[in-house]
Amino acid sequence: MEPTPDVLDALDDDVTRAARAAMVEDQLVARGVADPRVLDAMRAIPRHRFVPPGYRAQAYTDGPLPIAHDQTISQPYVVAVMTELAAIEPGDRVLEVGTGSGYQTAVLCALTPHVYSLEVVPALAAAAAEALADLGLAAHLRVGDGWAGWPERAPFDAILVTAAPPVVPPALIEQLAPGGRLVLPVGHAFHQELIRIERTPRGLVERSIFPVRFVPMIRGADHGDGAP
Ligand code: SAH
Repeated sequence: MEPTPDVLDALDDDVTRAARAAMVEDQLVARGVADPRVLDAMRAIPRHRFVPPGYRAQAYTDGPLPIAHDQTISQPYVVAVMTELAAIEPGDRVLEVGTGSGYQTAVLCALTPHVYSLEVVPALAAAAAEALADLGLAAHLRVGDGWAGWPERAPFDAILVTAAPPVVPPALIEQLAPGGRLVLPVGHAFHQELIRIERTPRGLVERSIFPVRFVPMIRGADHGDGAP
């Protein structure tokens, strides 16, 4: 089922619509984000509903903002670029690693009904579930370490990772469908490169996009450095 215009209308909010329209023009279109479906999704999803109450006035500014547990909601431009690079078609199965506030999850929900998202901090997953439910958005959320992906729900047409591992997690490559796109930051402590990997008929095609600063991926039981 495709998201209907009614769903997007219901998400809209008179008070903040103008701020979102300005965000899309000034921060996204001006910097080259061009996919109309991505721009529509960014216009429709009320980012202020995903930031802590003390930061709502800054919800449409051009940067990341703090959320609970020392994590961040990504800069709108980075959310838009990653979503555009993921090239999501209606009906695609999409995995997000790092639900965080749930904002990127919500943007994905505007593009396809099959959105799966993993979060390692239970309290963040719970808050994101509530924010998404309040907007009537139905993503499949699970608490767990995204290093291993979500094998029971694989394969995925697109995988977006919003916390940075030191190397590309092998499980995420394995869980990419034919033609699938993996978009993720790779590197160490706040110095990373945004990477796009596509599974093509001729093999994996990898491309670097630009340097980024994401929170590091938190590893589970092994407390390791992420090396396979
Ligand atoms: N997409 C989020 C960005 C949140 S920041 C948003 O739009 O708000 C990255 C998130 O990744 C944090 O919530 C952090 O707790 C989570 N995270 C870190 N390591 C993880 C892991 N191994 N598996 C799943 N989530 C992880």
